[in-house]
Amino acid sequence: MLLNLCGHDFHYECENLCRVFYPNDAVQLVYDVVDPAVLTSRMEKADGGYCLSAAWDGAREDVFVPQDAPDLSEAQELAASLAIYRLLWRRTGYTPPWGMLTGVRPSKLMITLIHEMGEDGARRYFEETLLVQPDKTALAMAVARQEDRILRASRPDSFSLYLSVPFCPSRCSYCSFVSHSIGSASAKKLVEPYVALLLREIEQTGAIARNLGLRLETVYIGGGTPTTLSASQLSAVCGALAANFPMDTAREFTVEAGRPDTVTREKLETLLRAGVTRISINPQTLNDDVLVHIGRRHTAKEAVDCFRLAREIGFDNINMDLIAGLETDTPPSFRRTLDGISALSPENITVHTLALKRSSRMVTEENAQAEGGAAVAEMLSDAQKMLTLGGYTPYYMYRQSRCVGNFENVGWCRPGTEGLYNVYMMEEVHTVLACGAGAVTKLREPHGKQIERVFNFKYPYEYISRFDELAERKTRIKTFYEEYTY
Ligand code: SF4
Repeated sequence: MLLNLCGHDFHYECENLCRVFYPNDAVQLVYDVVDPAVLTSRMEKADGGYCLSAAWDGAREDVFVPQDAPDLSEAQELAASLAIYRLLWRRTGYTPPWGMLTGVRPSKLMITLIHEMGEDGARRYFEETLLVQPDKTALAMAVARQEDRILRASRPDSFSLYLSVPFCPSRCSYCSFVSHSIGSASAKKLVEPYVALLLREIEQTGAIARNLGLRLETVYIGGGTPTTLSASQLSAVCGALAANFPMDTAREFTVEAGRPDTVTREKLETLLRAGVTRISINPQTLNDDVLVHIGRRHTAKEAVDCFRLAREIGFDNINMDLIAGLETDTPPSFRRTLDGISALSPENITVHTLALKRSSRMVTEENAQAEGGAAVAEMLSDAQKMLTLGGYTPYYMYRQSRCVGNFENVGWCRPGTEGLYNVYMMEEVHTVLACGAGAVTKLREPHGKQIERVFNFKYPYEYISRFDELAERKTRIKTFYEEYTY
């Protein structure tokens, strides 16, 4: 679809709103076009202020902004969004659950608003200004309360560490990560040299953190599927961490053991011995047909067995990821998944909504469309009821673009078992140093809000062939902290 802007360039929010109402269309921006058949957002001077309008095929919505409005530019942007929202709402009859809120971190905004205007003011702003539905406002509020408590434990010198292992046993249909399927011989060949260089990067990054006097809060090994590595490779990675980072200050050490078909007793015992405190076993669904459909090579029973093995070995903080909206899944089948997972009683359950990523197989090859919002709404509502009854509370959340029904991803936990890294990373409260292919170091100004990213090479073969360039990129960590002394 075309989006025509006249008299302003608030394109970011306007484009995002178009995607909310037309998730399967690519939005193309044009400027100053005169064509009533094109959706047009216009800003014009009006008596005592500005008129922000949206017009399409003869329908029109106007929103007035007085010229003495505080934060005039922000008010104009909000008004442009509101005019588009009203126009598209009337045209489609669709009411988005998150209203005009298109950002990926609703709880971060909620925390800021609570600090500025208190809980009542924040609630009103969500519902009356941003038109967020009351149940989503309540969810964001509940998450904000939990996150705020966790965020307060972060210090100006805190950092978290992320390691990327971008290999998986096969590729899930919805995946857009850089992860390589080690099913192919060429990808399998990369694993050993990759691990050798990852150990070197851990050493280099550890030296930087040590010289800067930073304090390690959490460690997260993700990917990909870290448990595609052998037990001895996992042991080497954990050993490098212990040798180069002050693990005694780390309050959490998570490893994603996402795919049950990569997990063995030996690997789990290795991780537990190495001090891993939390693992994530991610069945996504307990429906075997859906598992086949999404390209998984394990059964629901194998996921359950994997969980039981981890418990037996001694893991007392386990997360399980689920996805609502997977193709061929239904609300009754999703309820059975929730029942099955609840029976295992993991400490954390993360409920994602399917997002249609442009580079995923389901979009590039299967031409999947963002449909089925009503079914996903039912799944999420069932999840919320069952998890609340089961003693879980929502502690972190984020949203993704092209998410079926414009819903959200929520981490639920039993009290005291929150995945701290998830909160620190999502709310960008302190620096995350990252190692490995596709990893992004996110530097956070110790006493301010400045954020800067340092990108590693995206693909394993680039990481391996251009490794020596990484050290140069990472010198920015030191100069960043010198600029923003804490
Ligand atoms: S397990 Fe995760 S990273 Fe690996 S292919 Fe599936 S979605 Fe992608």
